[in-house]
Amino acid sequence: MERLQKILAQAGVASRRKCEELIQAGSVEVNGVVVTELGTKADPDQDIITVKGRPIKTEKKIYLMMNKPKGVITSASDPEGRKIVSDYLKGVKERVYPVGRLDYDTEGLLLLTNDGEFANLLTHPKHHVPKTYVATVKGVPHGTELDKLKKGIVLEDGITAPAEVEYKDVDPDGKESVIQITIYEGRNRQVRRMFEAISHPVIRLKRIAFGDLLLQNLKRGLTRPLTKDEINRLI
Ligand code: URA
Repeated sequence: MERLQKILAQAGVASRRKCEELIQAGSVEVNGVVVTELGTKADPDQDIITVKGRPIKTEKKIYLMMNKPKGVITSASDPEGRKIVSDYLKGVKERVYPVGRLDYDTEGLLLLTNDGEFANLLTHPKHHVPKTYVATVKGVPHGTELDKLKKGIVLEDGITAPAEVEYKDVDPDGKESVIQITIYEGRNRQVRRMFEAISHPVIRLKRIAFGDLLLQNLKRGLTRPLTKDEINRLI
């Protein structure tokens, strides 16, 4: 038995706060009876729970890590017919969706789940989950330029939060360099825009960590389930 608002949020109905509002507004029924009391418990596997008359989906929760290849989009479908993440999930029968996004050209660690509450928690700006990327950039940024990224740099949607930045490798002819960067936000194309702002555009971008989860040696295009311990460490 679990609290109704938790069951609703986990089913991806809305955030837990919004689900509480739905309950209080009388929009939720358990086995045909309207429930407005927030402490009410229900059994997601036995009870029939509806929101505004529509049954919620209470599938088994699954949590996966994928090494997303470059050239794949994280949306559920693509009008241009490009490869989508679910093309790599042939054996998975649950409908999972990505926790946050990775650009079409970005590769690396992508979390996938059907647990709406888990996804909301990890992507909510107030949680500041660290995400670490290895960026191959044009030229060799000067230390003072990287300092700007460390302090926060002004982008068109405002100043970024301080980031951790370190050199990993520098091409001997100075044409490109490899920089590791950890950011605590998840704005659209953020890492690419940060490097553009210091005039060292990104050539290749790979996410290697999400929270304290590491991509490690998971092969490109492959997916593995998270362990219980990994799930608990993230939330
Ligand atoms: N920052 C980017 O620029 N792209 C991504 O895919 C993720 C973070």
